[in-house]
Amino acid sequence: MNTILDRVLLLLGNLHMQPIDFESVYSGRNDLTPLESIELFLLEQQRLRTEKQGALKRKRANLPAEKTLSAFDFGFQRSVSKEQMLRLSDMTWVEQAFNVCFLGPPGVGKTHLALALSVRALDLGYTVVFETLDNLMKYLKTEEISGASKHRMRYIRKAALVVVDEVGFMPLSPGEANLLFGFVSSMSERTSLIITSNKGFDEWADFLGDATITTAILDRLIHHCEIINMTGNSYRLEHRKSIT
Ligand code: ADP
Ligand code: MG
Repeated sequence: MNTILDRVLLLLGNLHMQPIDFESVYSGRNDLTPLESIELFLLEQQRLRTEKQGALKRKRANLPAEKTLSAFDFGFQRSVSKEQMLRLSDMTWVEQAFNVCFLGPPGVGKTHLALALSVRALDLGYTVVFETLDNLMKYLKTEEISGASKHRMRYIRKAALVVVDEVGFMPLSPGEANLLFGFVSSMSERTSLIITSNKGFDEWADFLGDATITTAILDRLIHHCEIINMTGNSYRLEHRKSIT
């Protein structure tokens, strides 16, 4: 014999609503009118739904790690200031579809800062996607033949903020450079990009292979962009942990 609680939970499931912990939500609330009781129920539904969507967004963002600004040692990395990063943390630039480029040698904290901004954006409810350029290329190249790639690219194109990490590690073929141009240009003025690159813009033609396509990509990218040139030693190398 089903209890009233079983039946209500079953109904919630059938209606694609969240299972509510009635006991804790309504504890000490014997004073409610029927309408107030329904309001409390709906508010709790809304809260649970937002929480669930937030968790799903976090999962889909695909962040390789959760990094924070507070864990970043601005004393070690002096080419970017905490104030500058805190200003970017308000995410108003995402509303305006501005881009941010972190440029600098390996280990200086480019990915860390990109991740910290991503976490912040997720906390504020934005849709965020993190991909290495290598992965993005795989999706772009197989978009027409793979359902998974098509699905992922659709999500990426709808995101408010897309991080493209590790631009410049590998040389691109002319076809790939064209795909990258198409991507950057379709996102420009609409979606914010965070780009991390171990190459300065003056070296981009080396891995993109062609001066014209490089100019075209940089033109779209830099039009509305905060460029953060990072210098210094690798945090990894300086804080190397040995086994013994
Ligand atoms: P990059 O992307 O520039 O190659 P990462 O951001 O991946 O470098 O940094 C390498 C590692 O060092 C990461 O684990 C990162 O969290 C850490 N790291 C780098 N710079 C700092 C810093 N200034 N303060 C704290 N951790 C740092
Ligand atoms: Mg990196």
